[in-house]
Amino acid sequence: MLTEDQRKRYSRQIISPLIGEKGQEIISSLRVLQIGAGGLGSPCSLYLIASGIKELTIIDDDIVSISNLQRQILYNETHVGKVKVEMAKQVLSNLNSEVQINAYKDFIDENSIKKYLKNQDFIIDCSDNMKTKFLVNKVAVENKIKAVIAGIKDFYGQIITVNPQKSACYQCIFPEPESEPSKTEGPLPVIGVTPGILGTLEALEVIKTALNLPNLENNLLMVNLIDMSFSKIEVLKNENCICSGK
Ligand SMILES: [Zn+2]
Repeated sequence: MLTEDQRKRYSRQIISPLIGEKGQEIISSLRVLQIGAGGLGSPCSLYLIASGIKELTIIDDDIVSISNLQRQILYNETHVGKVKVEMAKQVLSNLNSEVQINAYKDFIDENSIKKYLKNQDFIIDCSDNMKTKFLVNKVAVENKIKAVIAGIKDFYGQIITVNPQKSACYQCIFPEPESEPSKTEGPLPVIGVTPGILGTLEALEVIKTALNLPNLENNLLMVNLIDMSFSKIEVLKNENCICSGK
C-alpha cells in the first residue's frame, strides 16, 4: 500500500495507465545494484531514485576529477577530489530521502561483487569497461538476477536487458574477449549527452522490466546520435553460452 506522501510524490507516474498505483507499488519495492557511478551511473541513479525505488546500492572505486564533470552529472566543482560514491549518496539522498541508498567505495571483481548480490532485483552495469560488463552478465546469469548492460563511445551507444530465466545474455552477442585490453589504452572519446541518454535508458529498462512492459530482452538497441537512429537488433539465446548452462 502506498502512503499519502507517496501518492502525492509519484502522482504523475501513478496517473499513467501503464503504471497506476499497482505499478508504483512494484517500483517502490525494487532493490537495485548499480555498478559504477560515472557517466552512465549518474543519470541512471538520479532517475531511479526520483522514481521512488526501495533501495539502491552503488559501487564505485573512483574519486571525482575535473574531467568527469563534462558528463557525470551527479557531481559539481565542489566534489572534485572527493569519493564518488559518497558524493553520489549525498546528492541522491537530497533528491529522495525515502529511498535507502547504500554506497560502497570498492573495486568490482569476481569476488567483491558477491557480497552485494543478496536480495537484489536488478544489477545495472554502468561501468566503463568490457571486463566488468562480462562479469555483471555472468553474475546475473549465475544468480538469476535480471540485468541491464549498456556501453558507450563518442556519439554511439548500445544497451540490452538480460532476463536469465528466459532471454539471451550479453555473452550470447559478444564473445568474451580472450585477453584483457591493455590498461594503457587511452580514455575513450565521449560527448556527455551519450551516457546521459544511455544511462537514462538503463533506468527506464529497470522500471519497464519490473512492470512487465515491453523491454530490451532479446534485443540489442543500437543508438547512433550522429544520424539520430535507434535500431533494435533481435538476438537469440546461444545454446552454447553460459546462460544455457554451458
Ligand atoms: Zn548467453
